[in-house]
Amino acid sequence: MTHNLAFGGSPLDRASARRADPAWLAAQRAQCLALPLWQDRVLMADDKATFLPWRADWDVHLTVFLGLEGSQPLFAVDLPGEQEPVFDGAAFVEMRPAAAILSARDCAIAGQAKAMIDWHHRHGFCANCGAVTSALDGGYRRHCAACSADHFPRTDPVVIMLPLLDDHCLLGRNARFANGLHSAFAGFIEPGETVEDAVARELEEEAGLRIGAVRYHASQPWPFPSSLMIGCHVDALSRDFTVDGAEIAEARWMSRAEARARLAGELDDGVRMPSPIAIAYHLIRDWVEAP
Ligand SMILES: [Zn+2]
Repeated sequence: MTHNLAFGGSPLDRASARRADPAWLAAQRAQCLALPLWQDRVLMADDKATFLPWRADWDVHLTVFLGLEGSQPLFAVDLPGEQEPVFDGAAFVEMRPAAAILSARDCAIAGQAKAMIDWHHRHGFCANCGAVTSALDGGYRRHCAACSADHFPRTDPVVIMLPLLDDHCLLGRNARFANGLHSAFAGFIEPGETVEDAVARELEEEAGLRIGAVRYHASQPWPFPSSLMIGCHVDALSRDFTVDGAEIAEARWMSRAEARARLAGELDDGVRMPSPIAIAYHLIRDWVEAP
């Protein structure tokens, strides 16, 4: 089953066996197309990501090999500075609004680029000894010469789940969400937890909800900064819930018909649904449309 989730479905071959070879990597960069990023924003012209031939004045210390598209190597380059670099006919766009208009291919590649560049910005020093680290393997490893530790890009697993009972789903309004946005429940998986453990704990903590079966539905890379959203449908055992009042401000059971109407924009009463770029939207829509 394909879900067409934003940031997923990358067409690139990451060539992980070859990117550790500096000579191979240098040859790829010489003939690459590079996607410029600046302050976590992606260079776009209209609704397309902008890939440019490599330029000698680009900072090679903040470069990531993204992969091969056919035989064409693609890189990401992070441009430094406080002033937005100027490119004719293009501008830097923040990743969330960009994701809403980019093609699936561009969105997946830009999301990978953003997550990787972001990781390098936050991991310049060794977590083991504090010394400066340097990037290797096309950006997929940082090595500490002082203590020989290797550090690899992180992906942080997050469970995101839609409780279901009697043809209704439970949606919560996070206290941080903009006005009226109701969505699925979510939280980071903690060490020692399975996906099912984390789903049960988060729903107990945030909504006081008791649950039965947990069904994996789909996953989504979410580069803010480096999460993997693991989407599940969950059988609730009862309609009773008690929101924690801190993370979740309110929650409501929504019938399938009501959810369908809200996704279609047919109800205008201030209750908003998630954006189509978010897996929460797909958890709701796929349940609404299920036979
Ligand atoms: Zn170290």
